[in-house]
Amino acid sequence: MASGVSDAKANTRLNWYSEFSEPTLEALFQRTMQTHHACQLRYALWSAAGLFLAFSLADYALLGMGEAYGWLLVMRVAVALSCVALAMATLKRPALAQRPLPVNVICLLCLTGLMTTIPLRPDQIGIHLASMIFASMVLYLFVPNRFPWILAWNAYLASGVVTAMLIWSSLAPELMFTGLLLMGFVNMLGSLTLTRLDRLQRNQFASLLEEREINRQLHREIEERRLLEERLRHMATTDELTGIANRRHFFELANRELSRALRERTPLAMCMVDIDHFKRLNDRYGHATGDRVLAAVADCCQSVLRDTDIIGRYGGEEFVLAFPNANLHTAASIGERLREKVTQLTLPDIDDLGPLSVTVGISRVEAHEVELDGALLRADQALYAGKTRGRNRVVVADPQVSLLTDVKVSAGH
Ligand code: GH3
Ligand code: MG
Ligand code: MG
Repeated sequence: MASGVSDAKANTRLNWYSEFSEPTLEALFQRTMQTHHACQLRYALWSAAGLFLAFSLADYALLGMGEAYGWLLVMRVAVALSCVALAMATLKRPALAQRPLPVNVICLLCLTGLMTTIPLRPDQIGIHLASMIFASMVLYLFVPNRFPWILAWNAYLASGVVTAMLIWSSLAPELMFTGLLLMGFVNMLGSLTLTRLDRLQRNQFASLLEEREINRQLHREIEERRLLEERLRHMATTDELTGIANRRHFFELANRELSRALRERTPLAMCMVDIDHFKRLNDRYGHATGDRVLAAVADCCQSVLRDTDIIGRYGGEEFVLAFPNANLHTAASIGERLREKVTQLTLPDIDDLGPLSVTVGISRVEAHEVELDGALLRADQALYAGKTRGRNRVVVADPQVSLLTDVKVSAGH
C-alpha cells in the first residue's frame, strides 16, 4: 500500500506556475475542474459584456453624440457580443472554457477594446488607470486561464496602456511613474494570489487522489480478507473429497434441526449409509478410483434428497443424513431411492467396476430424546443388521416394535 501512495505523492509535484509537473495529472485536474471553470468564465464574460455596454453611457456623457462616440459604441457592442457568444457556447460545451484559443481571443478583444478608449478620451487618465487596474485584477482572479497566458495578457495591457498614454495623452512624468508603480503592485498582488490559489487547489486535489488510492487499496484488502474468510469457512465446514458437509458441520446443522423438531413437535429421521465392500474396491482399483467412487456416491445421495435434508461425511466410506419433517416411512422411501440409484452408478472410464451398492440404516428421534446420539446409534445398528443380512438394503430401526425391518431385500454380492 505504501509504495502506491508514495508513487502518487511523487507525481504531485508542482511547477513554477503552480500546475502539476506531471502532464497527465494536470490534465486530470483540468478535466475535474472543467464545469467549475466554465461557470467561472461565464460569470466573467457576462460581467465584462455588461460593463462594456454600461460604460457607453459614460462615453455619451463625456463625448456626446458624435463620431468618436459612434466608434466607441461599435467597439463596445462588438466586444459585448463576443463575450455573450462565448458564454452561450460554454453552456453547451464546457470544454471551451479550457481551450486556449476562445479564452485568449476574448482577452485580446476586451483588452484592445479597453485600450481604444484612450485615444478617444485622452483626457480621462484617472479613469483609464482605474479600468486598467480593474482589468488586470479580473485577468488574475476571474478569468480561468493558464498562468503564463495571464502574465502575457497583463504585459500586453500594461505596455499597451503606457504606449497609448505616451502617444495620446499629455501625462506628467510623476503621474506616469505612479501609474507604473500601481501596475507593478497590482501584478505582484495578482500573481501571488493566483499562484497561492492554484497551489491550494492542486494540493487539495492531490490529497483527494491520495485518499481515493488508500480507499481503493482498503477495499481491495477487505475483498481479499472476505475471500480468505469464505475459503476458510468452506474448508472448516466442507469435506474436501466429496464436497458435502464434514462431520462437524453436519452435526451443527442436524442439531439445529433437532431443536426445531423439538420446538415444533415435528418428526426428524436419521440415516446412515455405508458403501458395501469398499475395501475390496480400493484393493482392486486403487485408492484414487476409490476416492472417485466416494465422491460419486456422495453426489448420488445428494441427488435424491429434498431441499431440507442434510447430508455429511461421517468418516471413511460412511455418510450420515438427517431428514427433517420425515417419519420412518418417508425416510425409508428416501433411503430406498438412494440405494436404488447407487446400484445404477457407473464411472465413465472404468467399464468393469462391477455393481456398486450401499447399505442404509434408518431411525428416528423419539419424542423423549433431546440429543441425536440415540437415533444415530439405532441407525448404525440397523446398518450393521443390513450388512449381516447381505448388504445392499435399507433397514429401519423402529424402537416401538423393537424390530429392525428390511424395507426391501435385494440380493447381496
Ligand atoms: P462393508 O461392506 O462391510 O462395509 O465392507 P467395507 O470394505 O466397505 O468396510 P471396511 O470398513 O472394512 O472398509 C472401509 C474401507 O474404506 C477401508 C478404507 O481403506 C476405505 N476408505 C476409508 N476412507 C477412504 C477414503 O477417503 N478414500 C478411499 N479410497 N478409501 C477409503
Ligand atoms: Mg463399507
Ligand atoms: Mg465402513
